Amino acid sequence: MARIHVLDEHIANQIAAGEVVERPASVVKELVENAIDAGATRIEVTVEEGGLQLIRVKDNGSGIEPEDCETAFYRHATSKIASGRDLFQITSLGFRGEALPSIAAVAKVSLLTAAGDDGRGRLLEIEGGRLVTQEDAASARGTEMTVRELFYNTPARLKYMKSIQTELGHISDVMYRVALGHPGISFTLRHNGNPLLQTLGSGDLLQVIAAVYGTSAAKAMLPVSAEDPDYTLSGYISRPEWTRANRNGISTIIGGRSIRSGGLNAAILRAYHTLLPINRYPLLVLNLDMHPSLVDVNVHPAKLEVRFSKETELYAFVERELRQVLLGENLIPRPGREP
Ligand code: ADP
Ligand code: MG
Repeated sequence: MARIHVLDEHIANQIAAGEVVERPASVVKELVENAIDAGATRIEVTVEEGGLQLIRVKDNGSGIEPEDCETAFYRHATSKIASGRDLFQITSLGFRGEALPSIAAVAKVSLLTAAGDDGRGRLLEIEGGRLVTQEDAASARGTEMTVRELFYNTPARLKYMKSIQTELGHISDVMYRVALGHPGISFTLRHNGNPLLQTLGSGDLLQVIAAVYGTSAAKAMLPVSAEDPDYTLSGYISRPEWTRANRNGISTIIGGRSIRSGGLNAAILRAYHTLLPINRYPLLVLNLDMHPSLVDVNVHPAKLEVRFSKETELYAFVERELRQVLLGENLIPRPGREP
């Protein structure tokens, strides 16, 4: 056996990138979450060739101080937690300090940012994890992160990428979820110059539903609002007459974070039991609020699964409340089925 030694930061980042950066959509997710954490109210995402050629995320958030720009790309460098105690009360989407170094390890990244309103900002260029240039540059307050030629230095990973349409599909999915979770933020997504998503940031969830699923879907929605001692539920659910061919239209959001829970999905579908034709599914956007001690959302950085500590009670609550909304509705048949 060779002697044991600590890997240098460059190699460590490339290894971490394998975990964090699975495909272009993972880059979009990490950069958009950073923009949200920075308090942005407008986030513009531009991608080219399914994100493999270019991903640009521009925000009007806090920006990064000039002297912090280089540090932001170090491993485990974060402004979001300071001590171990903070780990138990995380309010930001990120906190591990892994996204930027991981992305920069496998792409050509440029960062343009300013933390103030005087137009004075900073520009950094990083290639394959190595700082190429760093200089003062004019910038509005906020951050613009550009990621070019993702996986250019990891050919094995690049070969694994699917078609541009498939990668774009994953990117759109990330953007839809994040927009549905943040109606108060204006999001745009453009691919090869074509606008694919535009939300207003007015705070109106129904507008976001219309932007993502179309106006006919938005018109078919019923509002939900319920509370019990542990949980608060709000959002929109589709009338039974308006159905979809798959269950991808079920979004559950906790603290702005789109999550996945098989148990919750099953409870939702039980609420619709006998009301939907066979093999048809509803459209729902549900916000669930609960005390942080009742949910563990940080099971894995790149995954969306969560754990609930009182899951049986939660599922019963959701099923009961949705059922009530659905049965309380005068079920006058309306035309309109999504193909
Ligand atoms: P994390 O989000 O877990 O803190 P990242 O590697 O994603 O780690 O980002 C590192 C740090 O860079 C963040 O903690 C934040 O201080 C800063 N940063 C990254 N993106 C932005 C942004 N869009 N606006 C302001 N600061 C940012
Ligand atoms: Mg982050």
